[in-house]
Amino acid sequence: MTAGLTDVASLERRELTEALLARGHQRFRADQMFQWIYRHGITDLAAMSDLPIKVREQLATEFTVSTPELVHREQSVDGTQKFLLRFADGQRVESVFIPDTPAMTFCISTQVGCAMACSFCLTGKMGLTRNLTAAEIVGQVRVLADALSMRESRFNIVLMGMGEPLHNYDETMKALRILADEHGFAMSPRRITLSTVGLLPALEKMAREPIMPNLAISLHAPSDVQREALVPINRKYGVADIIAACKRFPLSRRSRITFEYVMLAGVNDSAADAHALARLLKGVKSKVNQIPLNAAAGIPFERPADEVVDRFARILADHRLVVSVRKSRGRDIRAACGQLIVEGGRKSPAQHLAVMM
Ligand code: SAH
Repeated sequence: MTAGLTDVASLERRELTEALLARGHQRFRADQMFQWIYRHGITDLAAMSDLPIKVREQLATEFTVSTPELVHREQSVDGTQKFLLRFADGQRVESVFIPDTPAMTFCISTQVGCAMACSFCLTGKMGLTRNLTAAEIVGQVRVLADALSMRESRFNIVLMGMGEPLHNYDETMKALRILADEHGFAMSPRRITLSTVGLLPALEKMAREPIMPNLAISLHAPSDVQREALVPINRKYGVADIIAACKRFPLSRRSRITFEYVMLAGVNDSAADAHALARLLKGVKSKVNQIPLNAAAGIPFERPADEVVDRFARILADHRLVVSVRKSRGRDIRAACGQLIVEGGRKSPAQHLAVMM
């Protein structure tokens, strides 16, 4: 990014309008610029051909549009693709494209690393390096849409990449507003899912936001004792408080809160755990998404046998809960849940398998 220039990628359209007016431009230029950047993927101001040449020249002395650099791309045998992106300061994150689930889904990061330190998650092992800006969060969507030639296609977004979105509240909410902008991607909030460990003050705040994504709670255990061993922040925001907040959370008539439940052999996968979970979720408009652990070196847990996963799901279904088992995608390229981590320069064996660029 060039010094002194305002980065359009970091602005909501309202802010861009103000910045343009302050420099003597007309207000509708903001709408045009949003259309170029988000609908057409054009960031070169000189190429915005429905603006007068003089205006384009002037804009180029005032504004720039930052875009994350795509440094690596891998494809799994199942069609999942993983993208490594680098920002201006050299920090990197991974983003994942998951085809046909049944929709097309972009899995986007909100932080470099994560401070939550969940004991089964590789990103958690990294610790937190820094928050992403709204420009960097939306930038991942722009880069993936271009790389996959999907500017014209419909896709869903899940904030389930690296980081805890509610630990980076302001920039995440700003990113949602930019993604929803009618002159930009015009994403319906119904196509966006925010996944969180349940940072309660932020969750309560989100309940009052004009743009409300679908909510997924990383629950993983039906009791505080079990959850504390997996999700350290549970010592501060416990299971009962999270469930109470979920009961208060405003939901549209047809929507439900997703409860993610990573399945760890011998830890949280017993029949008693399933019954306890069902009791806990009584009266919550919920669906449970069981995620059999994606094992990795350094993660001290194992994935349960398929029969154990099925038994758990059957018990929940018997309690009339809506339940699904997440199919693991992209494990061969370590793009599956909890496997996102930015490694050093050396290529891993998995990366050698499927290098595309
Ligand atoms: N911080 C947010 C979003 C990122 S994680 C959150 O915790 O919800 C997205 C999902 O992947 C979470 O439900 C997380 O618990 C799960 N996950 C993390 N590590 C995993 C692993 N090794 N195997 C399966 N799922 C995992």
